[in-house]
Amino acid sequence: MSPKSALLAMVLAGIAAPAIAQETPAVELWRLDCGSIELSDTAPFSDTHLYDGEPRMLADSCYLVRNGDRYLLWDAGLPAALKGTSASQWVFTSRLEVTIAEQLADIGLAPADITFLGVSHYHDDHIGQAAAFPDAELLIGSGDAAAVTSGKMDATRAQLAPWLGEGATGKVTRVAGDHDVFGDGSVSIVAAHGHTPGHKALVVRLPRMGTYMLTGDLYHFEEQIENRGVPTFNTDRADTLAAMHRFDQMADTLDATIVIQHDPRHLDRLPTFPESAK
Ligand SMILES: [Zn+2]
Repeated sequence: MSPKSALLAMVLAGIAAPAIAQETPAVELWRLDCGSIELSDTAPFSDTHLYDGEPRMLADSCYLVRNGDRYLLWDAGLPAALKGTSASQWVFTSRLEVTIAEQLADIGLAPADITFLGVSHYHDDHIGQAAAFPDAELLIGSGDAAAVTSGKMDATRAQLAPWLGEGATGKVTRVAGDHDVFGDGSVSIVAAHGHTPGHKALVVRLPRMGTYMLTGDLYHFEEQIENRGVPTFNTDRADTLAAMHRFDQMADTLDATIVIQHDPRHLDRLPTFPESAK
């Protein structure tokens, strides 16, 4: 090979390598422990009395997705102030053993490394530690953002104040329908309205392990997929049923693994932290 053609080969190789890397950015998915919620009675989770009188244990899980050198945190769990103690309200007893920031530190990340904070909805068990990530761009359903800024939800507003409070400077994207988080189709926020006005689910396409669909609170446990249990506290029953129909059909079409974020029986559908799904 002449020096000139060798140089040409090197140049071509040099151009080709990053081009391929850009086409397939590394995507991986971690499940984080964001607490647990014990139900003294599951009755509020069906407006047709499907679960009256049944006690139940729920998980509270959050998720971290890496796309190249950018990170999405999906949901922000129970409040860090709960760590090492418990809080009871109505049928719920909530507990937290480890914070999101502590788990991120275990894999060498700081809160400032989080590019996007996506929240499935505005309930306390999904935004509890949101304010620990003020540098992240908040991705929230526009229906939820409107409710939070309506002035009727003081506790929630405090957690989301860096983005939605008065004079807030945090970057926020209000998602009306679906949203391609990284712009390459690998991770999509999809509309699943009805639990709250702007409730969302998440679709993650992994290079080796295939497609995962995280439910947010469209479902809280497996039985609701089978018998369409709609919680009494959802904001819209018809929207919820439509969202369940769409979500299930999408999971079928994409041959996706469904992960119900609150169902402890679904936690082992992903590796145990700090292992990730790839
Ligand atoms: Zn929840």
